[in-house]
Amino acid sequence: MELANAVIAITGAGQGLGKHMALSLAQSGVNLALIDLDALQLSETQTQCESYGVTARCYVADVTAEHQVCSAFEQIETDFDQLNGVVNNAGIMRDGMFIKVRDGQVNTMSLDQFQSVMNVNVSGTFLCGREAAKVMLNTDSKGVIINISSVARAGNIGQTNYSASKAAVATMATVWAKELGRYGIRSVAIAPGVIKTAMTDQIKPEAMERLVSMIPAGRLGEADEIASTIKYVLENDFVTGRVMEVDGGMRM
Ligand code: NAD
Repeated sequence: MELANAVIAITGAGQGLGKHMALSLAQSGVNLALIDLDALQLSETQTQCESYGVTARCYVADVTAEHQVCSAFEQIETDFDQLNGVVNNAGIMRDGMFIKVRDGQVNTMSLDQFQSVMNVNVSGTFLCGREAAKVMLNTDSKGVIINISSVARAGNIGQTNYSASKAAVATMATVWAKELGRYGIRSVAIAPGVIKTAMTDQIKPEAMERLVSMIPAGRLGEADEIASTIKYVLENDFVTGRVMEVDGGMRM
């Protein structure tokens, strides 16, 4: 795919990796449909993207709310009459042990703690992937659905909910590649390792040292390294149905 003048939707574009991807794609001439819960942060991303001379529009939506997702993508179809990709990046973590015994008391992960993460990470990806594919078909656009998974999909302690959700979105990309290839739509998952963000900047030095010792590359990843993988997946039309691991060689 030619990046210049493509139209790409990104969920969770208000901050973090999603914002970084948006800015990086804007620099390559991509027009953007930016989706997030947070209107203020979205408009900051929009302003920064537009400084590179592209069109960027904001769609405030909760990816777990079907009617909000459907309206956002209907509006994207009206605004751009084209859609060449969606990055299902919006995601949350609510870590906790499945079962923890403390002072003779058995504590458990609540159903709400499990389902809230599954809702945003899995149902949100399902809804946005589905609606994006519909717009691609309605507008006769060739496109790519990219699901952001994680190294945690292998199963990380304290992350029953998050690990399960990230395994699910990786598998969904494989299914969609098989189902949608006939329509000229590809689907790929990207599984980042630990990436340097505002969140990881708060990890204490001892904990950081332990973490880095688990990464063969000897450091955390950079947001740019995820953004460049997004560009690679968009540009290379023979990449589909696979999980791209960008984790410095880390294994859970
Ligand atoms: P972040 O918390 O900085 O940003 C997430 C964005 O998603 C926020 O702007 C938030 O408002 C938005 N969002 C959350 N729930 C939403 C909802 N229901 N509807 C719409 N928007 C919603 O996270 P990040 O670190 O940038 O991570 C982005 C993605 O990458 C996530 O899916 C995360 O699981 C994945 N990931 C991150 C890392 C890392 O090291 N940062 C590693 C592996 C995978």
